[in-house]
Amino acid sequence: MEAWSGVKVVVLVGGVGGARFLVGLKALLADAEITAVVNTGDDVWLHGLRICPDLDTCMYTLGGGIDTERGWGREAESWTVKEELAAYGADPDWFGLGDRDVATHLIRSRMLRAGYPLSAVTEALCDRWQPGVRLLPMSDDRVETHVVVADEDGSERAIHFQEWWVRYKAALPARSFASVGAEQASPAPGVLDAIASADAVLLAPSNPVVSVGTILNVPGIRDALRKTDAGVVGLSPIIGGKPLRGMADACLDAIGVETSAEAVGRHYGSRQCSDSGILDGWLVQTGDSADVPGVAVRAVPLLMSSVDATAAMARAALELAGVGVD
Ligand code: GDP
Ligand code: CA
Repeated sequence: MEAWSGVKVVVLVGGVGGARFLVGLKALLADAEITAVVNTGDDVWLHGLRICPDLDTCMYTLGGGIDTERGWGREAESWTVKEELAAYGADPDWFGLGDRDVATHLIRSRMLRAGYPLSAVTEALCDRWQPGVRLLPMSDDRVETHVVVADEDGSERAIHFQEWWVRYKAALPARSFASVGAEQASPAPGVLDAIASADAVLLAPSNPVVSVGTILNVPGIRDALRKTDAGVVGLSPIIGGKPLRGMADACLDAIGVETSAEAVGRHYGSRQCSDSGILDGWLVQTGDSADVPGVAVRAVPLLMSSVDATAAMARAALELAGVGVD
């Protein structure tokens, strides 16, 4: 552990895949400074409450409050509020809003309405959860992922990402994604500094389109990744041509990227060999191969089946980023 003392690591994360990775990284790096830049493109106002699914998944997972079976929401959850809303016929009825979870959203919404930025709200919520990792929203500005879907008559309409993902289970063919608000958004305070002063920057094995991709859509973040002195290393969420959980393949299809570790690595691109690439290194699952020009590719076990297995992935990523080999 000594070799890692004081190391500064920044990780770009989404929800479930990102949170699990952070647990392994935290276990590996007892004395390090870990900053997670969290996707907020999934965020949505529902029933007057601001819901931040990826921030909450990270906070609950690292803080020991997550429902581990589901991978999202609070453990020992009950659903009275949801049932009561349904009894009123309140729309939307497809979003899981647990009773314990509602308390988080109530506090967040109250603070946002009082004028606190999301980064300050997140810090306040983390006072309770003590995640052991600094959780920064990618931006304090409202950025929401919308999905352009085709109706049966061929006409197109845009729906919120949550509606596509949760209500339609990503089964409505997506034509494209838009990060609404991203062009006017700025990175949250601390994001660019953390990237600039990091010893290593990692891309968690999160959804490359609607988690990491959305973070990269916030102006300034891609540039910061391209300029940092730290090594930038990604971990593939695609194993054997399939996403592990979730429906990342539907997202990749929509942007015309094949569901393979190689194609996702090429999509992120090389910092050295392309104008917009961000990677120095790319980790793929043992048995998968990937040729990504200008990027050092290593194959290691990438299944986050236990904290130890995840910590080993984190170690391999840090080594590839040139940090603290002991
Ligand atoms: P979401 O916001 O909850 O959808 O979560 P993320 O975007 O952070 O992560 C979703 C991605 O995690 C999916 O594309 C999965 O393929 C990936 N994933 C989940 N479990 C594992 C795992 O054990 N290993 C790897 N390499 N990827 C995983
Ligand atoms: Ca998400």
